[in-house]
Parts: sequence; C-alpha cells; structure tokens
Amino acid sequence: MRRWNGWGEESIHATIDEGARGFLEEALGSGAPPQDASLAAALARLPASRLSAAQLHGAPVPLSTEPEDRLRASFGQSLGDWLRLRFGQIGPVCDAVIYPDTTDQIRPLLDWARQQDLRVIPVGGATSVVGHLTPPAGQRPVLMLSMQRLRRLLSLDASSQLARFEAGVLGPDLEAQLRAEGWMLGHYPQSFEYASLGGWIATRSSGQQSARYGRIEALFAGGRVELPKATLDIPTLPASAAGPDLREWVLGSEGRLGVITEASVRISRVPEREDFVAWFLPSWERGQAAVQALAQARLGLSMMRLANATETLTTLKLAGHAGAIAWLERYLALRGCGEGKVMLMLGFTGGAAQVRAMQALARPLLRALGGVSTGTVLGRKWAAKRFRGVYLRNALWEAGYAVDTMETACDWPRVTPMMQAMEHAGRSALAGHGERCHAYTHLSHVYPQGSSVYSTFVFRIGRDFDSAWARWQSLKAAVSEAIVREGGTISHQHGVGKDHAPYLGAEKGATGLRLIDSLIREADPHGLLDSGNLRPSAARTQP
Ligand SMILES: Cc1cc2nc3c(=O)[nH]c(=O)nc-3n(C[C@H](O)[C@H](O)[C@H](O)COP(=O)(O)OP(=O)(O)OC[C@H]3O[C@@H](n4cnc5c(N)ncnc54)[C@H](O)[C@@H]3O)c2cc1C
Repeated sequence: MRRWNGWGEESIHATIDEGARGFLEEALGSGAPPQDASLAAALARLPASRLSAAQLHGAPVPLSTEPEDRLRASFGQSLGDWLRLRFGQIGPVCDAVIYPDTTDQIRPLLDWARQQDLRVIPVGGATSVVGHLTPPAGQRPVLMLSMQRLRRLLSLDASSQLARFEAGVLGPDLEAQLRAEGWMLGHYPQSFEYASLGGWIATRSSGQQSARYGRIEALFAGGRVELPKATLDIPTLPASAAGPDLREWVLGSEGRLGVITEASVRISRVPEREDFVAWFLPSWERGQAAVQALAQARLGLSMMRLANATETLTTLKLAGHAGAIAWLERYLALRGCGEGKVMLMLGFTGGAAQVRAMQALARPLLRALGGVSTGTVLGRKWAAKRFRGVYLRNALWEAGYAVDTMETACDWPRVTPMMQAMEHAGRSALAGHGERCHAYTHLSHVYPQGSSVYSTFVFRIGRDFDSAWARWQSLKAAVSEAIVREGGTISHQHGVGKDHAPYLGAEKGATGLRLIDSLIREADPHGLLDSGNLRPSAARTQP
C-alpha cells in the first residue's frame, strides 16, 4: 500500500544511523518530529463533495466521492503537500475522482463535465513536486481524472522502434511490458516507481539516463490528446519540417490543453552492458571541468552526476557503513582527494566494446584533472538503490527534518554562480527564521551547452504547521528568485505547476506568456481544465 502522507510503499523503511543523526544535529541542531495527523483525522477534515446527487448519478463513468480517494488524488509530493498532510491542515481537495477503464470513456466524460460546469484535473502518478494537484479555489466543483487504470501496451512496431501505451502506465509497469518483448524505454526519473507516462509528457520530465535515451521530449513520438472540445491525433514521424511541431504544444502542457490518453514512445533494445563507475575529483572546479569536457567531447555516456563537496560529504555520512567509508576517505585523501572532494557517478551503457571504448576515452580526461576511480563497487550500490534514496525523506521527517529540492538549468558560465546563489538564498531564507539550512547541490543532466543545477535543502521542520509553512514559503520564494535572477529556467525537470507559475514570465517574456494564454484559450475556451497550473486561472466563456 502506498503511503498517504509520505513517499513510497508503507512496507519500505529507510533509516538513518547514529552517525548520520549526529551529522545532522551538528549542521542544524537537534530535530523534533511533530506529531503526525492520523489518516482518520485527516479524512474527518475533508469538506463534503459539492457534486449534486443528479451529477453523481448522471456521470457517464462512475464517480467516487470516497474521502480517501479524494484525499489521495488531491496531493502530490511537494513539501507543501507533505506539510498539509502531516499536520492535518488539509485545505482544498477535489469533489470526486473518476477512474476510466478505457480511453474511449474520456471524450464523453469531458463533454459531460463541460456541460455540468465542472473543472477537470488529470492525475497520473501524483508525484508532482510543484503543486500541480492542489484543486483551485472557486465555486466550481473539481473532478480529478485518474489515469491509473489506463496502463496497456497497445502496439509495438519493432522495425520503427515505437511502442504505443495508454498514458496512465507507471514507470515499472511500462518497462516490464517492454522488457517482456526484449525492449526498454530507459526513462528513469527518481520518481520512476510511481510516475506515469502521461505525467512525464505533461511535465517535460527528464530521467537519470536521459543523456543516452533522451528526455521525454525526445522519447514522445506522437499520440492522442482529448482536448476539451475535440480530439488531437499527432502522427508518429521520424522527423518533420511541416511547420511548428504539435508534440511541443503537448509537452509541458500540465493538463491545461487536454488529457493525453495514448502516447507512442521511441524504444531501445536492452543494452548488452552497463557500468556505473564512481570517480572522485579533488575539488568542485575540477569536477565541473570534468563533466563539461566529457559532455563536450560527446562520448555518449548515459549518465554524469556530479555532487558538490557538501553533497558528497552528506551522501557518505548518510550511507551508514562508517568503517568502510572511513577507509575509502583515507584512500582518497592519499590519492589527492581530501577535504573538498567531489563525487562523480558516470554511466556507461551500450555494447560491451562500446562501453570499454567510452571508458578508455573518459579515463585519461578524468585522470588529467586529478580524478580517482573507485571502480564499479559504489556504482553497483547506487544502481541497486537508485529509487530507494527517496525513502530517506521519510526517515529525515521522522528525525524532525524537512527536505525540499529546487532545480534549474543554465549555460556553463552561470553554473557555479547559480549553485552558490541557490544555496545562499536557501540559507538566508532559513536564517530569517532563526534556523540553519543544510544546502547541497549536484549536476545531474549535463549538456555541451550547460547543465541542470539541482539543490537540496534540509532544515528543521518547526513545531507547528504555521512555522513549518512559513519556513518553506520563505525558502521556495528566495531560491526561485535567485534562479531567475541568475538567468536560469524556473525548472529543468519538475515543471511549473502552481508553485513556479509566478516565475514563468522571467523565461517566456510578456509576448511568450500571451501566446501560451491564447493557446490555452483556443483549446479550452470554457476553462474546463483550468487548474491554475502553468498559468493562473483565466476568464472564460460560458459552457
Ligand atoms: C522523489 C521525487 C523525485 C523526482 N524525480 C524526478 C526526476 O528525476 N525527473 C523528473 O523529471 N521529475 C522528477 N520528479 C517530479 C515528478 O515525478 C514528475 O514531474 C513526473 O513527470 C510527474 O508524473 P506523474 O504521473 O506523477 O504526474 P502527476 O503528478 O499526476 O501530474 C503532474 C501534472 O501532469 C498532468 N498530467 C498527468 N497525467 C496527464 C495526462 N495523461 N494528460 C494530461 N495531463 C496529465 C497533471 O494534470 C499535472 O498537472 C520527482 C518527484 C519526486 C516526488
């Protein structure tokens, strides 16, 4: 059973040992976990559904107004979502959830919802971290359209390497269906266990090995989108010069233009060999020089993930196994990677000869910068736990610490200043509350032109909802402002949602925003899908 107020399966427990606890206490002061609200208490606070009996019985697909269904569908995984759930400050929830069994049910459902003057929000895996699923305020009832039953592989064209899925399929299920046929997609966001194909497309997701397989923009070949008043079919073509690309209108549309019901994706054969190798470099400057050079040499690595010195230290401290880590650190120090060292995890994927060749090309480049390889031992551990690290959030909460992450991308000259500005903004924001903030950063998507910059902020939760919420709001605003001030995008991979919507204009400009607004108005003149994601709620014509 999936946790209702945290990450992942209830049966999976991450722990932090005494050493890690001591490390956090030294950095932040001792944490005091607040008393979590029980599920029963949270459900008791749900407002009644505003749907009338006639609406409940007249829907073309059965609706659920079960409190737990409504609660689970109305929250994602942002820290704001966590705070509301953990403290039982539930706030807005949807009025009903609908679970279509077939994609054919969606067209009549949207037509009916429009006639009833409802709002509809599609929900995939509910892993959004930017407030996508919070129902908007207002008089109109909100229906969450759950895609969870739409998970079938519809067709597989081996000669074109294309597979078509219903868009609600979750990561592990999608990979399992492809692997059964000897294929794979290779899209592995850290939220892979729960995120859906439609959600990836709607939020322009990026996976851990997007350097090899491509971001979702490269994987999404075409599909079907049910717009509020029409159906949009986008054919799969290897390339097209026929004007603007309609796929680009759907990518990042965040549920505002239509419901992605089916998607064709570009698949690959399962590679013969895959090695993850951990290197250490003596300093951040050397580490950044290494990933920049590797990306610009276009060697074809499947992953480059560079942790800064604080993230490297934190990873080693939270890993447990203090004895083995102490031995590793002594060895690295002897080889020139002492205090200030940075860890670089590299992925080499492909045919056996190709993997050997890539490693042979990367090795001298890394050694010239003082890099020390620790072989595949740490890499194998990383690969085995690549989706388990997220569970640490639960353990940290139970120790009294909140975790939030903010991410961007920018060109190379801005990368280090961006990292410094984001971390500084986070620390200053918490200092304003008399609190410390443990901030650290990695570069996980490295391009010849620049890089993503992904910072994590750990701080004490606070005694009550109001103080915790105020800390989070200050942090979010300060880091978002730092990102746009330093010339980054407000999101490299998490999307815009409601939390980042105020900062979208910094990237798109007034003209760009007007174009986006007119596209939304054209697709959805009555505001059926007006969730407030991406762009604030707009005036609408009558249904
Ligand atoms: C711990 C953690 C780690 C993460 N790591 C990554 C990462 O590495 N890379 C990354 O890219 N993201 C990451 N994310 C963010 C999140 O997983 C992605 O944004 C993901 O793509 C959301 O997919 P979902 O199915 O959960 O969508 P949801 O959260 O259900 O919805 C997100 C938005 O997409 C819309 N939507 C969903 N399905 C459809 C559909 N079929 N049609 C139209 N609109 C739809 C919703 O209306 C909503 O606006 C992470 C999140 C968490 C909690």
